[in-house]
Amino acid sequence: MTKPNMNYANLKDSYLFFGIAQKVKKYSELNPDKKILRLGIGDVSLPLCKTVISALTEGVSDQAEKSSFQGYMPECGAPFLRTTIAEFYRKKGVDISDDEVFVSSGASDELGDILDLFDKENSALVIEPAYPAYVDANVIAGRKIIHLSSSIENGFTPEPDEDHITDIIYICSPNNPTGAVFTKEKLKKWVDFANRHGSVILFDAAYEAFIEQDNIPHSIFEIDGAITCAIEICSLSKTAGFTGTRLGYTVIPKALVRSGMNFNSMWVRNRTTKTNGVSYIIQKGGAAVFTDEGQIEIKENIAYYKGNAKILMRVLDGCGIEYTGGVNAPYIWLKCPKGLGSWEFFDLLLDKIQVVGTPGEGFGKAGEGFFRFSTFGSRENTNEAADRLKHLFKSL
Ligand code: PLP
Repeated sequence: MTKPNMNYANLKDSYLFFGIAQKVKKYSELNPDKKILRLGIGDVSLPLCKTVISALTEGVSDQAEKSSFQGYMPECGAPFLRTTIAEFYRKKGVDISDDEVFVSSGASDELGDILDLFDKENSALVIEPAYPAYVDANVIAGRKIIHLSSSIENGFTPEPDEDHITDIIYICSPNNPTGAVFTKEKLKKWVDFANRHGSVILFDAAYEAFIEQDNIPHSIFEIDGAITCAIEICSLSKTAGFTGTRLGYTVIPKALVRSGMNFNSMWVRNRTTKTNGVSYIIQKGGAAVFTDEGQIEIKENIAYYKGNAKILMRVLDGCGIEYTGGVNAPYIWLKCPKGLGSWEFFDLLLDKIQVVGTPGEGFGKAGEGFFRFSTFGSRENTNEAADRLKHLFKSL
């Protein structure tokens, strides 16, 4: 008889977004006249920029002509896009070659798939609060997971310690959900630690485009020594509004070798076995993001979200609420006022002012007592939510 992967039985129910949706649905059925403002979801609200739309349209036209039609794309990515992305890195002073870049359908897909490169016996370190996919993907694979709690005291960017040595280390900077960023100095400590212990860092750079401060690395490969211990996973979802269009990229240096096995070659072998490439049309659109016009346009969209962040941060500052994020990231992570639990605070916001956010404990135990606001909504809703929040905080 077939034996299923019993590790699925060890997954905790993903009740977070389901739980939120249920509560909001119930509330709106009972209060149909109330306008609910959603600051919970991590999806973008602005459309793709003009330059990307033109490139996508051109890609569609190419598929209509025999002379320009494209069939299967190379499994590791179209050469034109691999070169474009590698040049984007090189312009920032990070020396990677075209064939160290792999085009993907997005960071989520890649964060799951990349675990094929690691032995089942490897252990994984997850700095919490964390994007839930890190834990779940390793539970499915049956790996041992070490949860390293971060806190407001260490700015949610803990340093490595010799009591928590694992084979795989997840680092997400800028972080979802805390919005915290690792400085070059802090990241260097993790790189040295990984090289010392033979660990591999999976660096999630999905929000790198939101970094605005100097000395905050956009890529782990800005750090000396990272090419022998890191894989970087990136996405155009938040950078350029590709959440529904789907495109990402992964950098695996050829210098990353363990037990005589080269991770770059292994990934080529994996991709050529498990994929038939990403759509030509989407890759055409993706390449447009890296043009001068594309960069100007995506930065305008990011500035719009940053404007939302400023509006919310002004309220939090004015009401003395402690928080991280909002500056180099599209999330604001706040300490629930009056010692409230994160679900208690969720209920309070929904009942009193009809604002929906995300309870921190959905990102691991270390998120208890915290709450996440997303800045990806419209300006109009953010302004209205900020007003309502200000009145609520003042009344507590
Ligand atoms: N990594 C982090 C930290 C995220 O927050 C998200 C999406 O919210 C992803 C990866 C997934 O991005 P993608 O849309 O490219 O799958």
